[in-house]
Amino acid sequence: MTGERRPETSGRRPTSFISRTPSVAQSLRDRTGHEVPFSVEFNPPRDAAGEARLWRAVRQFERMHPAFVSMTYGAGGSTKDRTVRITGELATETTLLPVAHLTAVGHSIAELRSLVGSYADSGIRNLLVLRGDPPGDPLGEWHKHPSGVEYADELVRIVRDLGDFHVGVASFPQGHHRSPDLDHDTRHLAAKLRAGAEYSITQMFFDVEHYLRLRDRVVAMDPVEGAKPIIPELMPITSLRTVQRAEELCGRTLPPAVMARLQRAAGTAPEEDRAAVRAEGIQIATEMAQRLIDEGAPCLHFITLNFAKATSEVLTNLGYGAHTTATAVA
Ligand SMILES: Cc1cc2nc3c(=O)[nH]c(=O)nc-3n(C[C@H](O)[C@H](O)[C@H](O)COP(=O)(O)OP(=O)(O)OC[C@H]3O[C@@H](n4cnc5c(N)ncnc54)[C@H](O)[C@@H]3O)c2cc1C
Repeated sequence: MTGERRPETSGRRPTSFISRTPSVAQSLRDRTGHEVPFSVEFNPPRDAAGEARLWRAVRQFERMHPAFVSMTYGAGGSTKDRTVRITGELATETTLLPVAHLTAVGHSIAELRSLVGSYADSGIRNLLVLRGDPPGDPLGEWHKHPSGVEYADELVRIVRDLGDFHVGVASFPQGHHRSPDLDHDTRHLAAKLRAGAEYSITQMFFDVEHYLRLRDRVVAMDPVEGAKPIIPELMPITSLRTVQRAEELCGRTLPPAVMARLQRAAGTAPEEDRAAVRAEGIQIATEMAQRLIDEGAPCLHFITLNFAKATSEVLTNLGYGAHTTATAVA
């Protein structure tokens, strides 16, 4: 790894720091400022140019002091080695608290244990434990690996049994696409939390009511598990193309009212008015984030697609201090 790909290195952390790595839940509790904490999600880059872009975003976010940063995991482990290496570098080469996504799909239990071991070796103690979707077609038929796990709650137990790991899980404001109804969905979310998860991060959504109803459902079904943080995931829309990406990622279409705002901004010319769509997308994310803050969300988790600028603009609009937002340029 070159200095060019990891600009402005802030120094390798001593091993003693790694053994004292806080949990996400602890990091949220430890925040002392007035601002609700925020966190960001990165994706494993596909090539050297993507890696350089990721590190630019990493260094920009580092100056904004997120509560944690998470790194997704390609379904079935297609970019496994690079993902593990970069997530480890986030632990050792930055001041950030990294969370590694760990997906069960396509892996035997032995492979999953070994992957957790690789993360532990590189200083990662926080894992977001997921089942994953069938590679290629997220809505396709799910087949468990012959020596793997069927549901995420089993993997939560395996990871907890492996050692001193802090585990988060996924939650779904509108219910998971394979859940027959919201009651079933809530029951299995509560089961994952009971298995040892300390918090959940939601699938992205564009109607805050869906998040609030999820929170109500979990508290009503299991007040103990319902007290654990449910972290809402937001994605600022920056073009009509990102609408398509957002819909692919969350498996839902955007609410008609949100879509209408973006289409109005795009205008009627053959080419969309990109600046206007971007401004409207940032405004929508800002309004959602403000409502979530008002409703007591424990943290705001932003999908970044490895860019810092849109998230930074939302935080600026929310009045987050200059120490948080001054530096994002791309
Ligand atoms: C914040 C977030 C991050 C994500 N990151 C990634 C990533 O990095 N890589 C990736 O590939 N995917 C990622 N995903 C997508 C995720 O892997 C898929 O949405 C997957 O389909 C569900 O994973 P899960 O862990 O919620 O599964 P599970 O909790 O296993 O649930 C899957 C379905 O089974 C049901 N269910 C659970 N337990 C039982 C049971 N015991 N009996 C019957 N039914 C049950 C659930 O209600 C649900 O319908 C992410 C999703 C979110 C929300």
